[in-house]
Amino acid sequence: MEHPENSEEYKGLVVNKGIEQPSSVNPYLKRKPKKRQLSVAEFVEGIVKGDITILSQAVTLVESVRPEHQAVAQEVIEKCLPYSGNSIRVGISGVPGAGKSTSIDVFGLHVLEKGGKLAVLAIDPSSERSKGSILGDKTRMERLSVHPNSFIRPSPSAGSLGGVARKTRETIILCEAAGFDKIFVETVGVGQSETAVHSMVDFFLLIQLAGTGDELQGIKRGIMEMADGIVINKADGSNIDKAKLAQFRNALHLFPAPDSGWTPQVLTYSGFYNLGVKEIWDMIYQYIDFVKENGYFEYRRNEQSKYWMYESINEQLRDSFYHNAKIESMLSEKEQQVLGGNLTSFVAAKTLLDTYFDELKK
Ligand code: GDP
Repeated sequence: MEHPENSEEYKGLVVNKGIEQPSSVNPYLKRKPKKRQLSVAEFVEGIVKGDITILSQAVTLVESVRPEHQAVAQEVIEKCLPYSGNSIRVGISGVPGAGKSTSIDVFGLHVLEKGGKLAVLAIDPSSERSKGSILGDKTRMERLSVHPNSFIRPSPSAGSLGGVARKTRETIILCEAAGFDKIFVETVGVGQSETAVHSMVDFFLLIQLAGTGDELQGIKRGIMEMADGIVINKADGSNIDKAKLAQFRNALHLFPAPDSGWTPQVLTYSGFYNLGVKEIWDMIYQYIDFVKENGYFEYRRNEQSKYWMYESINEQLRDSFYHNAKIESMLSEKEQQVLGGNLTSFVAAKTLLDTYFDELKK
């Protein structure tokens, strides 16, 4: 019996048979077809036409760690190379709170007044930890982010500083191919990321703060030496600080003259009140004219290309080594032996490298 409750012994109790249940799958739902990935030729065509959606998709591929994405990305970059190079690349650095976002917003609007297109990229190797919001976040550059001729992209998040920087450099190539003739690369002024940014820009601008009392102490000598221009922000209200200006100028005199032949300048401005911004850009354009004239512009870009060739080799060798299955299986054991004092670092390294080279021969 289907329902034993309907038996004679339970009088007055009737259990209905029930009705057929509808299918739990909605037959009217149309599945969205999976977006087809564009071909290399379609990417290149879209980028060269200046299609921002396609440019963004290509940058996402550049940033992807998946080998099949990387393969397409590398081909797209290679095909975009002939269309690239035609821009002014400016690195902008400063400690958090120095006013980078505020300044980039006004700098950006200033350079766009004359026409052209501006891409703002960022290098922040810590962004994976901080969930990628320190730099390049559109909300920080309110006016620029809604400007039709701007493209703002946060820092690639995955990987080592070298990897993050390489992706940003590749993104520069794609942006230039898409017609962006001004590129800003922003970084936090706290350490090694400056060197990476310096290795991909024509002008390195260091933002310092007016009125912070601790004067030059916080700035690493190496970073100051890299700067083609130092600009002191928040020179407004009671912050105007002539003494500080002189101090920076004096400090710069102590450094050896830069290879460019250019004397790094120190200027004050206020990002917030848009004071002195024109002067900064006049200085940058003056620098570009100067180094184009004396050949340093070309020289620096060539040196940078060389640097990135070696960086790419180093990165790929490192990757291949550490992702080798045999090495992966041996690494922690060797590390323990070194830590326990049972093996010297050199012997451990040699054993691992020998194993790796043997693996390659197989
Ligand atoms: P970032 O961390 O370097 O990107 O710095 P922000 O652009 O976010 O600026 C940090 C703080 O400094 C914000 O509260 C800004 O409003 C303020 N600020 C930025 N530029 C100026 C300026 O020129 N003058 C003054 N008084 N405040 C500024």
